[in-house]
Amino acid sequence: MALPRRHHKALLAFALLLAASMRCGGEEGKESIKRIEPDPYAQRRAEMVREDIARGSILGRNPVKHKAVLEVMRTVPRHEFVPPNLVDRAYADSPLPIGHGQTISQPYIVAYMTEMLEPDEDDVVLEIGTGSGYQAAVLAEIVKEVYTIEIVEELAKQATERLKRLEYENVHTRFGDGYFGWTEHAPFDAIVVTAAASHIPPPLIEQLKPGGRMAIPVGPPMRVQSLMLVEKNEDGAVRQRNVMAVRFVPLTRAREKEESAPSTKERTISLIE
Ligand code: SAH
Repeated sequence: MALPRRHHKALLAFALLLAASMRCGGEEGKESIKRIEPDPYAQRRAEMVREDIARGSILGRNPVKHKAVLEVMRTVPRHEFVPPNLVDRAYADSPLPIGHGQTISQPYIVAYMTEMLEPDEDDVVLEIGTGSGYQAAVLAEIVKEVYTIEIVEELAKQATERLKRLEYENVHTRFGDGYFGWTEHAPFDAIVVTAAASHIPPPLIEQLKPGGRMAIPVGPPMRVQSLMLVEKNEDGAVRQRNVMAVRFVPLTRAREKEESAPSTKERTISLIE
């Protein structure tokens, strides 16, 4: 249908206006999406850091001070690492169950253990006990590569998928018994063990670089344990000290499934030590 000539000018003006507004709308639209859709959990993370992690002394804890660690705790979406029915409690000051009798550690403990490692951007870090993958993600935001081992196959699978979906490309997962470390990628600048061991596994000490640091809870299962800082100096001498009382799920051993007696013995020996 032909338009009356007198409408042509008005139509052209309208079309130009529309095109201009669409272009602006496109650009602005993108930005305003960011503005009107803030991360709904950012505020909760900021509070978690302020109240539970950086303010430790008031709670009778050592406050975490490491800048990069605090920044990462404000960034990593912890709610993505907890079961859907616990998302509301993701930023609470406590560990949470993740299935298979295991837990995602308390945010303060994750931050504290990360700080203990004095992580650096060039570091290659080994984690024993992937669990949900949260500690691995926190480390991955700071260091170069994270290698993490999980003994429960289903958890290893879930964490691998989760870390992939969240695009943590520098985290490498493996299903197996972490007691023996990961020789192919050793030595490591730092090692973090997130399950309580009866003793410090010698293969992990071996796989620590001179100058490296390891954080590991040591003690009886399901009771109060000692969070140990293990430091290997440049000459290879190893020093260890207890930094805090903690409670972790036990470091289990692949062979315990068949025979539990030797591990009980190991525990007894290490308690006497
Ligand atoms: N770092 C985890 C916390 C996991 S709890 C997180 O951020 O969510 C400890 C985990 O260690 C559990 O998933 C448990 O299955 C695992 N684990 C226990 N013994 C292990 C072993 N020998 N090797 C590897 N993983 C082990």
